[in-house]
Amino acid sequence: MAQGAPSWFSLGVRHALGIATLVTTVTTAAAGLSGARGTTHDTAASIGVGPHLGPAALRFGRSVGSPTAGHLIGGAHLDETSYLRVEPADAEGDVRWGLEPLVAMLDRAARAVDRQFPGAVTTFGHLSRHGGGDVERHRSHESGRDADVGFFVRSALSSGAHQVFAPHFVAFRADGTAPTWPGAYFDDAKNWAFIAALVSDPEARVTHVFVAAPLRARLLAHAEQMGAPLALRIRAAQVMRQPHGALPHDDHFHVRIACPAQMAGCVENPEPPARAAGAAAGSTGRALGPRGAEHAAGRRS
Ligand SMILES: [Zn+2]
Repeated sequence: MAQGAPSWFSLGVRHALGIATLVTTVTTAAAGLSGARGTTHDTAASIGVGPHLGPAALRFGRSVGSPTAGHLIGGAHLDETSYLRVEPADAEGDVRWGLEPLVAMLDRAARAVDRQFPGAVTTFGHLSRHGGGDVERHRSHESGRDADVGFFVRSALSSGAHQVFAPHFVAFRADGTAPTWPGAYFDDAKNWAFIAALVSDPEARVTHVFVAAPLRARLLAHAEQMGAPLALRIRAAQVMRQPHGALPHDDHFHVRIACPAQMAGCVENPEPPARAAGAAAGSTGRALGPRGAEHAAGRRS
């Protein structure tokens, strides 16, 4: 994206908002900027967006239902850029759609890390499917408000370290090393920069960042050591948590945003676990690769 382009276009996202007025306004520019890929504009009538739903619906599309029982209307697509990659193991099926505020926030956060650490690339796993609904191996991710984000990983603890990448999420221990990846280290500085950007986002409000407790502790310790503002550290401490009754999230962040204000039909909290567990029992799974047992034992959030 060109420097100086309107912020709406500098997000690196492909919009499929079914907004007649927005489409009319931006058609010319969009044709030049996103080309043939941006062809999934639905009409306002076909997706049921009407004036009774208020301004939030017109701008964002709609998250309908809850993270564990819902769908997504008029989502935005998270596109790969120079500072944003898709984890190869999760690339299949294009599960990278979300409510516009989520997608825009993720893009802003990735850009913020790249600004602070030139050349840094943020790794993303699943968001939601186009239209939302069930995503295999996840309990949530149904309503366009959830995203999985890979950790930033460095090659060494020394100052000469560089960012390294894996084809799938890799678990890290409390000491910052990875049992399955000798020589790789959890990058406290970049991971904190990403979390700081999320919780400082000017538009979307993050309600949860699921992450294993020892890694949460590492990030908060790093933030304190580098002199991050107290308010920022408190906010990060409030949203980061290791979930109960789910995988520990020692190999990725799971990020969730709140329902935007005035979004009719958006349900803030997931279904009760008992119901979700019943749904999980009916899923058959597939060949899962090296982490198959882990996923068979419990689905990702
Ligand atoms: Zn997740």
